[in-house]
Amino acid sequence: MINRFYTRIVFLAGCLLVCGVFVYGFVNTSRPVKRDVIDLTAYDWNTVAQKRNIIPIAVIGSGPAGLNAAMYGARAGIKSVIFEGYEPLGLLMKTTDVSNYLGAPNTQGPKLMETSRKQAADFGVKFVGDVIESVDFSRWPYELYTGEGETVHALTVIITTGAAPRYLGVPGEEDYKNKGVSACARCDALCYRDKEVVVIGGGDSAIEEALQLEPYAKKVTIIHRRDKFRAAPQVQQRIESLDKVNTIWNAKVNRVIGDESSVTAVELEDMQTGKKSVFPTDGMFLAIGHVPATQMFKDYIALDEQGFIQLEGRSQATNLPGVYAAGDVADPSYRQAITAAGDGGKAGMDAIFFLQQIGFTTARAQEFVKSKKMFSGDE
Ligand code: NAP
Repeated sequence: MINRFYTRIVFLAGCLLVCGVFVYGFVNTSRPVKRDVIDLTAYDWNTVAQKRNIIPIAVIGSGPAGLNAAMYGARAGIKSVIFEGYEPLGLLMKTTDVSNYLGAPNTQGPKLMETSRKQAADFGVKFVGDVIESVDFSRWPYELYTGEGETVHALTVIITTGAAPRYLGVPGEEDYKNKGVSACARCDALCYRDKEVVVIGGGDSAIEEALQLEPYAKKVTIIHRRDKFRAAPQVQQRIESLDKVNTIWNAKVNRVIGDESSVTAVELEDMQTGKKSVFPTDGMFLAIGHVPATQMFKDYIALDEQGFIQLEGRSQATNLPGVYAAGDVADPSYRQAITAAGDGGKAGMDAIFFLQQIGFTTARAQEFVKSKKMFSGDE
């Protein structure tokens, strides 16, 4: 009898524990945005007032994520400055047809980005044609150092630096960069008029690169390590009717061969038989994905094992208060222009919320403008 009583008590306690864990987990995972209570003593406005080049929302990078982030800031009446970086307006400037951006059917990448830039500028976003070369996030306001030697003080930072092209890392590749090895067909296609080129990769970018090269080159050969592309079917269809474009399946490049002044061939290895061969070519274009441009943040911002910025919960927040990230730099999975733009909007809203919490007001902004402490970017 007593045994049965204890069994019931233990059973009941077990049930309560399981329910408790479930409810706790639900409450935690269903919390939409991680917005910690901020320690206001860490944000001293007297310190800020002694700085110059103050920027309430500083955006590093100018792709869809950066533009939308800054536009949200500017629409809220908060000075939002974009540092355009080495590739103004981002990867879409190298893309041709874009058909999957909602509200912009059958457009071209550069057209989409120029329209978006104008939309952001019309809301008052300030564009600076400079790069951020390094940062110091060890104290607030955060310091950003520009390529032109300027130091700016950011109250919030939104990182949208995207990702840089990945290279194979095979012998000869480094030696022949800009002498036949390229990761930008849009930039270099003209140099390959009536020449033979290879494109490495099997995703959307590989097809894009081939399409960029086809009007100029005598022959374009896509070399892919598998027996089918991972590019979207409608993107693949675009090369099917092109006589000048061929594919070598199940092959990898082991070595880039040249005559010291330019590329003359690549050594291929058949992935199934292991057989090696020399394939003559005048140029090798890489389209094997991108690595996130996070090098300058690695001492401050939590990154995953691939180098992508880690975000907190469903927000765009990094591990540092007031620092957010959006787009390819923080997205190992989706990497679409439309998702980057959406994440940029979220980052903009996160930054606005943070500024409100730490007591950034219109009056404070006006004070900084009046005392010429606010960054103008016009000097
Ligand atoms: P991706 O989809 O990741 O494709 C990279 C390709 O490179 C894959 O085929 C991969 O092979 C191959 N690859 C990777 N490392 C390699 C290596 N070491 N040696 C040989 N091959 C290697 O990258 P992406 O094409 O740059 O596209 C990135 C994202 O942007 C995607 O989400 C894509 O949809 C999007 N995008 C869209 C458009 C458009 O809509 N017009 C244009 C460009 C990009 P495996 O297949 O074996 O993994």
